[in-house]
Amino acid sequence: MNPSQDSIYLDHAATTGVDPRVLEAMLPFLSSVCGNPSSIHGTGQAARRAVENARASVAEIVGAYPNEIVFTSCGTESDNLALRGTLYAASGGRKQIITSQVEHHAILNTGEQLERMGYEVVYVPVDYYGMVNPDDVAAAITARTALISIMYANNEVGTVQPIAEIGRIARAHGIPLHTDAVQAPGGLDLNVDDLRVDMLSISGHKFYAPKGVGALYIRRGTAIAAAQTGGAQERHMRAGTENVPGIIALAKALELVESARPSESVRQRALSQRLQEGLLAAIPHAFLAGHPSERLPNNTNIVFEGIVGEAVVARLDLAGIASSSGSACAAGEEGESPVMRAMGLDERLGQGSVRLTVGLENTSEDIEQVISVLPGIIESLRELSPVPLGKSRI
Ligand code: PLP
Repeated sequence: MNPSQDSIYLDHAATTGVDPRVLEAMLPFLSSVCGNPSSIHGTGQAARRAVENARASVAEIVGAYPNEIVFTSCGTESDNLALRGTLYAASGGRKQIITSQVEHHAILNTGEQLERMGYEVVYVPVDYYGMVNPDDVAAAITARTALISIMYANNEVGTVQPIAEIGRIARAHGIPLHTDAVQAPGGLDLNVDDLRVDMLSISGHKFYAPKGVGALYIRRGTAIAAAQTGGAQERHMRAGTENVPGIIALAKALELVESARPSESVRQRALSQRLQEGLLAAIPHAFLAGHPSERLPNNTNIVFEGIVGEAVVARLDLAGIASSSGSACAAGEEGESPVMRAMGLDERLGQGSVRLTVGLENTSEDIEQVISVLPGIIESLRELSPVPLGKSRI
């Protein structure tokens, strides 16, 4: 599963390798079972049956009915469908969406475009730990609110939001709640009733399926229109020939990470904890970003004062360790991470963040290796460009 056998891959929040068991499950659908699920011949119907079995499996894991699952091409598409589809179907002057300042760009940039189209988007703030206050969501609700969309867990700092509590508020007002759960599979419970959500986005490549397949859960009775027009696939909710191998892979991968979750989430949390403690003990003027306990089990995000995260990522890469500064999806975009800014970190500090996210194949030897090399990297980078170091925030 490690994309490179010689290196230590600690960027699972960006993407994962494909689990060999997932690859094995999907391979026949790239060759022998090549039919289009809309075709009525045997090969087409074999593909149709496999897609429907995959749908039933995903539904069971999230606690839904099979016809509440719509397969898409990625997490971004699932998020777009939730936001746009709800607004397209909304009536009675409901033109407002409530979301948060720390969402992925799949939500933030969609919100920005919707605003240019005349919709209203409210971005609730977060606290120093990246946490949304449900009271702020409640306070933002008006008669125009069509949808609340708050992510389940943050892709940069790992903070897990109080979704069930926000769900209680949404239900009391009769407003649908969508959650971007792209970072959650394998680490958090996905039961849509416990979470009190009406829509939930996931993406295969974050949990050992290939890139290019996602899903959106849509609770029965939720008013939503298609965001993409064409054929009648996915009960008219997502036109386009289904990515059959991808769908089979997503379902298989979700089964695997969900069955491993009780032990893996404990193991990965222990690895992350050791990483955090080892680094903070060895490196002065550094602190953990995100919530200390309400965070994804696989996420460690450390801010190193006086340096730029990209420089650390480049030096770690030379040492055979794959990491990320901020979120990989935001890489290449200019300026400070919106997440760090929303958490109140000044621009200089926000740029010093490095994210290390563990996965199935990581061992404690990997973690000890990072703890042994990273302090030297930080020290030499600080010597190269000395800036006055302030008092650490933790
Ligand atoms: N939402 C979150 C929280 C993510 O972390 C990502 C990807 O990093 C996405 C959405 C987008 O998913 P995809 O890459 O499948 O479009």
